[in-house]
Amino acid sequence: MSNQYDLIIRGGKLVLSDGVKEADVAVKDEKIVEIKDEISGTATEEIHAVGKYVFPGTFDGHVHFNDPGRTEWETIKTGSSALAAGGATSFVDMPLNCNPCTLDAEQFNRKLAVAQKDSLVDYAFWGGFTPKNLDRLEELAECGVIGFKAFACYSGIPEFEGADDYTALKGMEKLKKLGLPLMVHCENALLTKQLGEDELAAGNDDVWAYFRTHAPITETESVSRMIAFAEETGCKLIIAHVSLAKSVDIVTAARQRGVDVQCETIGQYLILTDEDVARLGTVAKCSPPVRCAANQTKMWARLMNGEIDFVSSDHSPCDPKLKDGPFMKVWGGISSCQTTLTGLLTHAYHARQIPLPEIANFTSRNVTNILGVTNKGSISIGKDGDFAIVDLDKTYKLRAEDLFYKHQATPYIGDTFKGIVEQTILRGTTIYKDGKIVANPMGRLLRPVR
Ligand SMILES: [Zn+2]
Repeated sequence: MSNQYDLIIRGGKLVLSDGVKEADVAVKDEKIVEIKDEISGTATEEIHAVGKYVFPGTFDGHVHFNDPGRTEWETIKTGSSALAAGGATSFVDMPLNCNPCTLDAEQFNRKLAVAQKDSLVDYAFWGGFTPKNLDRLEELAECGVIGFKAFACYSGIPEFEGADDYTALKGMEKLKKLGLPLMVHCENALLTKQLGEDELAAGNDDVWAYFRTHAPITETESVSRMIAFAEETGCKLIIAHVSLAKSVDIVTAARQRGVDVQCETIGQYLILTDEDVARLGTVAKCSPPVRCAANQTKMWARLMNGEIDFVSSDHSPCDPKLKDGPFMKVWGGISSCQTTLTGLLTHAYHARQIPLPEIANFTSRNVTNILGVTNKGSISIGKDGDFAIVDLDKTYKLRAEDLFYKHQATPYIGDTFKGIVEQTILRGTTIYKDGKIVANPMGRLLRPVR
């Protein structure tokens, strides 16, 4: 006699979008088919989760894996393993740190082939949006990109040019027609370039020179300008990794007058301060930079009142050699995709009493809603059976050897986290358990519903 279900998780505290409920949840043919106080049927696999919290698998909307072509930095295999270990069941990869960049269908398909072979979790891709490929946006949309990514400034990768104002305007007109969002890294290109040259000319190449180079105005001006183009064209805009409360306020004001604009932040801006970065060194360099403690307090307030839509990792690894040198000159990017959920459990739930359903929404439901991924985002009937089983009271100190990244570098080594991911389940199959990857790659491409 065959079992009625493929999987039943029994007795856990389910973190739903609107509350925490102690119940059983059953998965059949990869989908959640039943949520009930007590499910009476049988399943091929049963997990007893009494005392544990069951989160929807998180959806990381912003990672930079380097497959294909720059695999000495990170691979889809190592990156997706780290995600699985952190409770994530999906990611969206950025178009610029693979080689060649994802600027047309051919390059999309090349990356897709690697992900089909190597990804532990489900995946989607951002298409590149640069002055050089405005005529390729339609073909990338056809391939199934989730949206497009542009830099208002220098991207760090010469082949991935920043979008000038003409490109932003003309490209957004196209995306409006295609019904796909544009995510923009907002920093003013001219200001960051010139301020940086001024600092170097004055002999300043330390962390504080870097902060001055990326002064708040360089971000807020760029956020305002991109919003102006979105307002003009009607294109759906997502401001990437907002670091400043002032930027969030600009987004909120635009939304109030009807502009279709959302914003993302990343764990680093909520957990670290500029003083931490000065202490940690180049491992904590990213752009825009981590800001001061006073700004961080305001960022938490804006997250709590719903003005920030979702939290990603912006996992941006590199070859460790590129982190060796003066702060101003080394590669900017932080590896962090394994610790997004545990970081929020520690800093949002335990330290600030932000309710668990909100944490689930910031890391999963909100981003899937914005990107149109209808089969993911929450523990509810009909969604994919994606879960992270968490012991909320367990404390641990992060060690380098716990990290699944290609290079065991992150600002968080040695930090104490409270709340540990014990098991991660993708579409009903356990892929990570108790510190180990326990499945073969089974990730699938996620396409947006337009
Ligand atoms: Zn990024």
